[in-house]
Parts: sequence; C-alpha cells; structure tokens
Amino acid sequence: MTTALAPSLPAVRGRLTRQAPLAPLVWFKAGGAAEWLFEPADVDDLSAFLAALDPAVPVMALGLGSNLIVRDGGVPGVVVRLGKPFASVERLDETTLRCGGGASGILVSSTARDAGIGGVEFLRSIPGTVGGFVRMNGGAYGREVKDVLVEAEVVLRSGERVTLVNADLGYTYRHSNLPDGAVVVSATFRGEPAAPQAIQAEMDRIAAAREASQPLRTKTGGSTFKNPPGEKAWALVDAAGCRGLTLGGAQVSEKHTNFLINTGTATSAEIEALGEDVRARVRAASGIELEWEIQRVGVSS
Ligand SMILES: Cc1cc2nc3c(=O)[nH]c(=O)nc-3n(C[C@H](O)[C@H](O)[C@H](O)COP(=O)(O)OP(=O)(O)OC[C@H]3O[C@@H](n4cnc5c(N)ncnc54)[C@H](O)[C@@H]3O)c2cc1C
Repeated sequence: MTTALAPSLPAVRGRLTRQAPLAPLVWFKAGGAAEWLFEPADVDDLSAFLAALDPAVPVMALGLGSNLIVRDGGVPGVVVRLGKPFASVERLDETTLRCGGGASGILVSSTARDAGIGGVEFLRSIPGTVGGFVRMNGGAYGREVKDVLVEAEVVLRSGERVTLVNADLGYTYRHSNLPDGAVVVSATFRGEPAAPQAIQAEMDRIAAAREASQPLRTKTGGSTFKNPPGEKAWALVDAAGCRGLTLGGAQVSEKHTNFLINTGTATSAEIEALGEDVRARVRAASGIELEWEIQRVGVSS
C-alpha cells in the first residue's frame, strides 16, 4: 500500500491508529488495513482534522462495513469511523428524530417506536449505521431513506460543515450524490404518529421475514448486485446456475443467491472474483449486465 501521508497528521482529540486492520470491522471479515483509522471525538474534531489534512490524502467513511469489500492491500489514506460520540438518537417532535451518523438501524427504529413515530420500521432490518443508510439510500420492504430523510449534516472533505436537504442528495435506487470523502455526522428522519404496539408488530414481521430469507449470521456483504429495472438480481443469478457456486473460501449463498458469503478463509480477492464470475455467467445466460451494489474499496495486494 502506498503511503502518501506526511509523517505527522493534524493533532486530534479522538483516536488515530496507523495500519489498522479493517477485517474485524467489516461483515465479510476479510481484507487489508486502513493506512490510518480515525475515530473522532466529536464533529469539531472531525472538521478540524479534515481542514488541516493535506487535500491530496483520500478519506473514506466506514460504518458497520455491511455493504463493503475491503481489498486485501488495504485502504490508502484515512478511514473515518464514527463511534459512540455519534451514536445517539433523539426525538425532536412528534414525527421527527435526529440520529447520529454512527447510530444503528436497530437503535433508530426502537427509539422511533418508543416515541410513537411510525414509518422507519424498515431500518430495523438493515444492518448498518445512519451514515451508511444516507449514503446508500438503504431500503427494504417498500421504503427507503429517500422517503424519510429530511436533511443530513455532513462534514465535507475540506472540513466544511454543511446541511444537505433530501433533494440535494439526488437519490436514486441505492445511490446518492454524496460527495467523495464527505462524512455524514447526523440525519433527521420524519415518520408519522403511530401506536408503539403497531410499530413493534411491524418490526417483528420484518425481522421474521429477514430471518426466513437471508443468511444473517454469516460473513456477508448484503445484496451483492442492484436489481436491474424490472428484474430481481437473485433470480438472474439463480437462473444462471450460480446458487452455491464457490471460488476459494467464497460462495454464492444457497439461502439467498444475491448474497456472497465468506465460508471462513476467503480473501477479498476471492470474494470479488466470485462476484465478477457471477456477473459474467449472468451476462452469458440472460444478456443482462449486473451492477455491483456492494462498495469495493482499497487496493489489491
Ligand atoms: C445481512 C445483510 C442484509 C442487508 N440488507 C439490506 C437491505 O435490505 N437493504 C439495503 O439497502 N441494504 C442492505 N444491506 C446492506 C447494508 O446494510 C446497507 O448498505 C447499509 O446502508 C450499510 O451501512 P454501513 O453503515 O454498514 O455502511 P458501510 O458498509 O460501512 O459502507 C457502505 C458505504 O457507505 C459509506 N458510509 C458509511 N458510513 C458513512 C458516513 N458516516 N458518511 C458517509 N458515508 C458513509 C461508505 O464509505 C461506503 O461507501 C444488508 C447487509 C447485510 C450484511
């Protein structure tokens, strides 16, 4: 991995770790190290660090790594991980919540339930953080972030703090226009008043549906490919004969064919190569070009 960073980085109040292994921090449990991992103490710490950091140094945010292949050669530059200081969720009024960029979907949906705010139950089932949801336009069971986001507070790569409203993010399916190197530090979601018991029932229904259809307790990266217009990626993968296909320690899930899994010893190179193999087989079988949903970051070893 190339070291583009000056020997001394800007001083911080949070934690800066050199050559921090990322495999333990991502769902696939594979891949290399971050050249630097920065866990800011608060928004001011993040903003001051980015403002003082050489603009040539790449910066990327990391949530729970639930939609990520980190290549085996690691990630050059700085990986920003929002920890506890960014994990709170507070009720603003009877329909809105302000959520820290590092808060989990479970925390957001359960706080919404306790506050009697319906409409964000779908976040119960998506593993990840608010920052990842905003960036990816995460969605499930007919709703996505685009439907509930009011605005997001973002620290740009320059260190500047800006508020982006929903329309600024240019949302389409599993995509936003969030600028490169920007870190979402909080988001405001709007739902509608609902009875906590009804919200809980919906969360239970969603959790059960998940359990039945997805390999939840495995090393995976969630949906591998976006659904092409009018098609289901899992069905195309299945029809191309890829169910259970393996490459080294990587496998196409038997339970849900749009999930790749690390059966124990897979490298990120094997996981990514299996994904490319699946794309080629689907192209040959159906003529359809699958597009990666999983973000692939870093350099090969
Ligand atoms: C079992 C399983 C089921 C899943 N089901 C769904 C589903 O139903 N629907 C769905 O949409 N997704 C699903 N996913 C994928 C994943 O949960 C979502 O994409 C989620 O939004 C990723 O959040 P994360 O915080 O873990 O982001 P990461 O995986 O860490 O990162 C994903 C992208 O978001 C960026 N990012 C992360 N945090 C921030 C931040 N604070 N600021 C700016 N950018 C940031 C990263 O740089 C990267 O580009 C599933 C994953 C798994 C493992």
